[in-house]
Amino acid sequence: MAGDFTAHRIELGGQIVPYALKRSPRKTLSITVFPDGRILAVAPMSSDLEAIEQRLRRRGRWVLRTKREFEQFRPITPSRQYVPGETHRYLGRQFRLLVEQSLRSDVAIEGDRIAIRYPGIRSAEKTKELLKAWFQRQARQILLERLASLSRAFPEIGDAPRLTVRKLTKRWGSMSQDGMHMLLNTRLIEAPVDCIDYVIIHELCHVQEPHHGPSFFELLEQKLPNWERRKNRLERIMV
Ligand SMILES: [Zn+2]
Repeated sequence: MAGDFTAHRIELGGQIVPYALKRSPRKTLSITVFPDGRILAVAPMSSDLEAIEQRLRRRGRWVLRTKREFEQFRPITPSRQYVPGETHRYLGRQFRLLVEQSLRSDVAIEGDRIAIRYPGIRSAEKTKELLKAWFQRQARQILLERLASLSRAFPEIGDAPRLTVRKLTKRWGSMSQDGMHMLLNTRLIEAPVDCIDYVIIHELCHVQEPHHGPSFFELLEQKLPNWERRKNRLERIMV
């Protein structure tokens, strides 16, 4: 896989910035800045380096700003403690945990907090169990709603695919070969709705175009002209 990439350097805003270049059958250039500061340009097979670097320079301010944001940004610690006050992300916003004793078990959004209530002594284990179950339910409900709504923009594929929501380690989603079954990552519920919609539309495009060839990107571009901005946002937020 490493052979797919070539290493380059470009001057942006007076700085020499390294970037990796990958060729793909897509039709447009995409530029991604990763949280560790790496920059990846994915370019159509045919475009020459000069044209690619011209595009990179045009987006130079965005590239540098995004890099700077990452340098300042300390990602939320991945090892969760499930204690009151801890921050958890839901639909692109940060919420603090409120944990209280109550007669009945309940999880609810209250302002900028996720309130978790249950009988008995407070324990991180119990909090975690209730919160995870709540996230799973919310993910299932909201992703189903978004899929039903977005499928209307795809009358050519007939009924919406069936949906399974579960934790995936390396992908946001996938579509079965026969186009009948969509798989989405539970963690998408942490992302803003416009990023969720990007993933679902991407997968719906796979019903007609199973591979990431030029006709796939043509279809995606047609269904969601600003897909790239949403994709970049998703990659930037979800470390
Ligand atoms: Zn895909």
